[in-house]
Amino acid sequence: MKGLYIHIPFCAKKCEYCDFVSYSGMESRIDEYLDALSAEAAQRGGARVDTVFIGGGTPTILNAEQITRLCGIVRNNFELSSGAEWTAEANPGTVTDRKIYAMLKGGINRISAGVQSFNDRELRAAGRIHDAETAYNTVISLVKNGFRNISIDLMASLPYQTPETFAESLRTAAELPLEHVSVYSLIIEEGTPIKEKYDEGIYSEPDEDTDRELYSYTKSFLESRGFYRYEISNYARHGYESKHNMLYWTCGEYIGLGAAAHSYTGGERYFNTSDINRYMSGSFSDGERERLTKRDMMGEFMMLGLRMTRGVMADEFLKRFGCGMTDVFGAEIKKHVSAGLLEYDGKVCRLTERGLDIANTVMCDFI
Ligand code: SF4
Repeated sequence: MKGLYIHIPFCAKKCEYCDFVSYSGMESRIDEYLDALSAEAAQRGGARVDTVFIGGGTPTILNAEQITRLCGIVRNNFELSSGAEWTAEANPGTVTDRKIYAMLKGGINRISAGVQSFNDRELRAAGRIHDAETAYNTVISLVKNGFRNISIDLMASLPYQTPETFAESLRTAAELPLEHVSVYSLIIEEGTPIKEKYDEGIYSEPDEDTDRELYSYTKSFLESRGFYRYEISNYARHGYESKHNMLYWTCGEYIGLGAAAHSYTGGERYFNTSDINRYMSGSFSDGERERLTKRDMMGEFMMLGLRMTRGVMADEFLKRFGCGMTDVFGAEIKKHVSAGLLEYDGKVCRLTERGLDIANTVMCDFI
């Protein structure tokens, strides 16, 4: 399995919590950016890929013609395997029927929509450009126009959110024809407007117990609606797990194109420049590379693999690294099995329900 990631670093407006590489007010430079992307794809293309993920930023800030052009850049420079999953992130408030048509015609077959909440007060506090009705109608339009594989992102622990309003958002999500739901907790990053508001006491810090309660409710509610939890923050109907993310969690290889994208091939991580002007001038990379040692790779294989509820298979570990999982990580596994955070039956090592709640504590022991 090999993946392709393309970063579109443009947004209509920065969300209050966002520290991703994305810029607002630069839409006039999208064509120039696509020129650079096309040049980078021509340099680094040629591979056969099983998944494509267009993320950002806001890919759907591109107009229909630009979306068509972007899809052409992918198809002209990469060979897509049969049945390839091709996802684009979509921001409600930027999606039109013409753009949906351009995405479908271009080959995109999965949408990941950044809904975050179906509560207008929470959406305003998060600085989203859309309201709940727009988010709902965006999903309906996507389905009406032909998309059959739609995921939405929701956020837990947003300002003003209560367990009741969170549950209401989940119930609204369940009314929609979705195949996949991701639920992430708000992370208050340094340097973001939302961090200042927390520092000034305008919002009160989310507490960990409530956050866990929301996760536990999410699991039981979504399971009652036909989804299963296949990763710490991700729920899918069977067969609709995100193949692209599974590729990341199984340490698969991927090529990243665009400003701030990174790639992982041949045991090496390769970083593109985050400076969009530099990228558009044709200097795609700052030359930063990281070669992983075998020990690094084994640690990452465990850390990422444990994110998935299916866990890490001992025979896959052996096949990949030529040594046994317990020969390398016997002490760590034993420690967390004793604490009730991991289970290991000789074939599979996975987080228990309790371990999933405090996954970071367990995972950081492997790297
Ligand atoms: S839409 Fe996404 S990438 Fe853009 S500012 Fe908001 S969170 Fe950041």
